[in-house]
Amino acid sequence: MDTEDRARLIRSGDRRALARAITLVESARPDHRAEALALLEALRDPKREALRIGLSGTPGVGKSTFIEAFGLMLTAQALRVAVLAVDPSSARSGGSILGDKTRMERLSRDPLAFIRPSPSQTQLGGVARRTREAVALCEAAGFDVVLIETVGVGQSETVVAELSDLFLLLLAPAGGDELQGVKRGIMEMADLILVNKADGDLKPAALRTVADYKGALQLLRRRPQDPPGFPKTLPVSALTGEGLAQAWEEMQQLTKWRKSEGHWDRTRAAQSRTWFQEEVRQGLLSALTQEPQKGLMGSLGDRVAKAELTPEAAAAEMLRLLGRTP
Ligand code: GDP
Repeated sequence: MDTEDRARLIRSGDRRALARAITLVESARPDHRAEALALLEALRDPKREALRIGLSGTPGVGKSTFIEAFGLMLTAQALRVAVLAVDPSSARSGGSILGDKTRMERLSRDPLAFIRPSPSQTQLGGVARRTREAVALCEAAGFDVVLIETVGVGQSETVVAELSDLFLLLLAPAGGDELQGVKRGIMEMADLILVNKADGDLKPAALRTVADYKGALQLLRRRPQDPPGFPKTLPVSALTGEGLAQAWEEMQQLTKWRKSEGHWDRTRAAQSRTWFQEEVRQGLLSALTQEPQKGLMGSLGDRVAKAELTPEAAAAEMLRLLGRTP
């Protein structure tokens, strides 16, 4: 099948074509890579954009329960929802723990939903690149909302924030009044902090946690892309569904404001620029692992080891040669 046929099928909303295209962008084979780039270029259409929502939270806070309930609420409104994952742990564990269909069984059967587990890949940079391309494919396929799930371990949040229009942080009710060791950097990225499990016996603790975070957020510097009152903290229950409609309402309000104030376009433009730079950086790094660069690194390294050259002079020589070699 040629690129145009693939692109047509994806644009028409063909889920199998979308799934195959995501497999294509996940492939490291050079011929697949060339096909993937052609396909992404053929599908480029700035008018076809989804609301990209990043979602982070430590294991057990209820991410999959939330995504299932929230996703079903959106599909009930006839919105098309895609779920992708950036899983920094898959490299270590060898298996994915995010975006797993068995964790979102009802949503995965919904014809308006599409769930893609995280690819296993050794480098976070690699996973991030593929996820970004998968987001682009989902947008081309006409999804209204793309949820990008990650687990709260720091680095992956930054990656997801660079992929998202909105960033949600999901928390569980705290036992005491302590903030749950949430890194300040992650809190600074959040547009909405949702304290999940605000139901039954856990409700009072959830409401206390909401109050704690409201206080903590007030101490953070206001960002230009935040209207008054944002970032916000809300109690939700993924189990009962309570608070989900309000959370969605807040997300829409924030989106509307950012669009009308020009922040939406500016953020997306800055994100594209960042990804371009990142691609160049990754390309240069991977060039070092291929010939002839790899051999040059080896031979210059040997001369440094024998003290025939200083590390600085050898690096300068390598960079000079890189400027010449393709
Ligand atoms: P994840 O690891 O973040 O994806 O968390 P899960 O969605 O698998 O949920 C972990 C546990 O918390 C499960 O036993 C869920 O049933 C439970 N859970 C999730 N959401 C809620 C909620 O809103 N209220 C209560 N009481 N339990 C919840």
